[in-house]
Amino acid sequence: MRHNGGSAAGLYEGSLLPEETKAKELIRYAQVIVDVPAKQTNRPFDYIVPSELREWVSVGSRVGVPFGPRTLQGFVVGLSEQSAMSASRLKPIEQVLDLMPPLNPELVQLARWMSHTYICHDITALQAMIPGALKAKYEKWITVADTAAGGGSPGGQTYLLDASPEEEEIVAFVRQKGNVTTETMLSRFPNAGPHLKRLLERGTLAEVQTVKDRLNAKKVLYVEPAVSREELLAHSEKLPSGSKRQKELLRFFADSSEPLALAELTEKLGMSPGTVKGLADKGWLTVEAREVFRDPYADRQFARTEPLPLTEQQAVVLKEIADTLDRRAHRVFLLHGVTGSGKTEVYLQAIQRCLDQGREAIVLVPEISLTPQMVERFKGRFGEAVAVMHSRLSNGERYDEWRKIGLKKVKVVIGARSAIFAPFSSLGLVIIDEEHESSYKQEESPKYHARDVAVERAKQHGAAVVLGSATPSLESFAKTAKQPAIESEEAADSAYKLLTMSERVEGRPLPAVHVVDLREELKAGNRSMFSRGLHEAIEQRLERGEQTVLLLNRRGYSTFVMCRSCGYVVQCPHCDISLTYHQVSRTMRCHYCGLSEPEPKKCPSCESEHIRYFGTGTQRVEEELGRLFPGIRVIRMDVDTTSEKGAHEKLLGRFRNRQADVLLGTQMVAKGLDFPLVTLVGVIAADTVLHLPDFRAAEKTFQLLTQVAGRAGRHQLPGEVFIQTYTPEHYSIVTASGHDYESFLDSELELRRLRGYPPYCELVLVTLSHEQVPLLVRAGESFAARLKQLWERERLSLSGEDAYFEVYGPVASPIPRIKDRYRFQCMIKYRGNVDVSAMLAETSAAFDETVRNDKLLISIDVNPQVLM
Ligand code: ADP
Ligand code: ZN
Ligand code: ZN
Repeated sequence: MRHNGGSAAGLYEGSLLPEETKAKELIRYAQVIVDVPAKQTNRPFDYIVPSELREWVSVGSRVGVPFGPRTLQGFVVGLSEQSAMSASRLKPIEQVLDLMPPLNPELVQLARWMSHTYICHDITALQAMIPGALKAKYEKWITVADTAAGGGSPGGQTYLLDASPEEEEIVAFVRQKGNVTTETMLSRFPNAGPHLKRLLERGTLAEVQTVKDRLNAKKVLYVEPAVSREELLAHSEKLPSGSKRQKELLRFFADSSEPLALAELTEKLGMSPGTVKGLADKGWLTVEAREVFRDPYADRQFARTEPLPLTEQQAVVLKEIADTLDRRAHRVFLLHGVTGSGKTEVYLQAIQRCLDQGREAIVLVPEISLTPQMVERFKGRFGEAVAVMHSRLSNGERYDEWRKIGLKKVKVVIGARSAIFAPFSSLGLVIIDEEHESSYKQEESPKYHARDVAVERAKQHGAAVVLGSATPSLESFAKTAKQPAIESEEAADSAYKLLTMSERVEGRPLPAVHVVDLREELKAGNRSMFSRGLHEAIEQRLERGEQTVLLLNRRGYSTFVMCRSCGYVVQCPHCDISLTYHQVSRTMRCHYCGLSEPEPKKCPSCESEHIRYFGTGTQRVEEELGRLFPGIRVIRMDVDTTSEKGAHEKLLGRFRNRQADVLLGTQMVAKGLDFPLVTLVGVIAADTVLHLPDFRAAEKTFQLLTQVAGRAGRHQLPGEVFIQTYTPEHYSIVTASGHDYESFLDSELELRRLRGYPPYCELVLVTLSHEQVPLLVRAGESFAARLKQLWERERLSLSGEDAYFEVYGPVASPIPRIKDRYRFQCMIKYRGNVDVSAMLAETSAAFDETVRNDKLLISIDVNPQVLM
């Protein structure tokens, strides 16, 4: 894809440099993007920087600014001495919301690149970069309106013509308080609703909005001596003998002058805070509130690990990466290393190199493999220099980890997708583990892919990027120079460098894989969900005291409810998809709109009572295990058992401590786990993903099978894998069972080429939705027609180049209705030097009015991962 101007630099002309080059005192104006995601406000607005705030306003600051009648949050994207607007028409910035700007100039530029590439508003891109805790929170207040307050009526009552006594009381209350939140108002006057509405409508009262104060850093009281050791001892002597506790406290600080948290101190010495306060009042001790960082790992000790001597393959790979780091060059590596080849050790040593240069590193891992085990490996090597960002942290914890980055207290961030926005200023290395994972793509706006954002950031920093996987995505593989899929010169320059580790550490063999044909099992009279082979293998593990991992991939195997008499499947009345049965609550739920209904007793269509749920859930497998292997200890890991904070960690901890024989779960058990006693992996049904309407179905199947098989036999004991399937001849299953990425790649690339899918072209999915089909059809057709027109114009300027552009559709989406809105989609396939983002932005701009007036929704997904 072509991005005008190549890199993002220069998009906000003149705004990148002033911080460094211009003296702060020359700054008079700030350009601010305000928190209103709409086309009319999608540009920087000029504000005056008041002199008292000058020190605190930087590019990347979050500020509160007046905008019309309200105060809004905004981000400073530029600073200047002059404004094109006359100063009398400009308003000053009201608040600077954080002492430390949450973003920096480079990230502000990156937001610009994101809004262009992914076709979203600037504010949406900026908001995506900061932790949730910093997102705009507004408070609404009720005050007496200006006109009313100054209404020339000293008694303050007379202007209330025809006001009821209740209303007069309400106004008096508000006047006395200054401003009141709606909640306070309603708790004082429970029936105020209608009165309030009338007073607001008549302009007696007004609603004002302010940006809620910044999230506070956590403060803890610390105690330390205020005088010398000798004085402490002298005071202690002079105190009357009854003041035993005070004497003790003084002697304590005479022994150690280190500051200590008040809570810790009182507990240690078994005294009350009053004793401490008494001495502080005398001026002998100081008690002071200090900022502390909420550290989710505070109570954990991480044993320091030393770098391991590398295997030959690891050494070759590390040298390549280190050379690039030493040259401070930008380069993308694709590290294809089989499971257990020791990729993590390579990451760790590459990071060490980067830190030695005084630069910083970001490590992305998929959310579900951000396990304690993973964190331990990084904390163990780099200790306090590591910050961890994942969605299970509380808002406060995440805010603190983020602040540590800005304060340069940490050098390495490990986290899920959004950690790519860590506000480092001299980034040297980005590592993306399991780079093929679809969770790196954000499914809501901005629909960015962390891999592409990483490459863009690394370009700006002259940093290296390492994409690691045992099963690289076809898109990434095609970007390695070896692949002929991309031919242009520009592409050859930015080609990824392929690095390979084909062997497991210490020559450990990859596990033996048995593919089991479930049709044959049925023929042989086995109706259980466990084939004879897998059954026997589990039994053996139980006898030997070894462990088993069982994968049940529930996706596409949904537990729907069907009538056995007439075939009716219970569907959501608002969305065209079947409801999913939840056994615990005995309810039917819609995964799209959240509808929840009791399980039907009779078929709504034919009234038959033979209506029941189908499909295999993890719970059913668990029950079956208990029935077949009495006494077996099973840990089940799925969305239901891991919803609580820390549950994930606890379950894995129990499994590691051998408190269970079997770890049974969904995709969660397939990734990243490394347990020495796991010698058996079973896949209950391999082909559940294969039949999804998605051109990546085969690739996802291959990846999942390879990943989960890689959990077996990673240490001394050899591993064994059983893959149960109804389509044992499918190439993705055959190649996965042979650990044969190359053959899979050959077959899959050939199919993609024939069908015209990535990496042989790029995709954009445009989905339009509306409550009425006729309007939707008209909008869809005209959207497609406009795009085609634009292409006709664009192609003239591209004459001679090998460019391709095609719009497919509009057609009904695979899920044709969600929440009572019908859905149509257009699929765009293109290749070559085409600025599709600009064309799409122009096209959707033409629909602004329909979007505003008729509530048409247009969603644009560049390089979509989900095609529903
Ligand atoms: P991958 O991420 O490639 O699947 P890991 O990084 O988890 O593999 O490594 C697999 C196992 O090999 C881990 O237990 C790791 O500690 C060990 N290991 C890695 N490198 C070495 C090495 N150079 N020498 C000895 N053991 C190693
Ligand atoms: Zn629904
Ligand atoms: Zn029926």
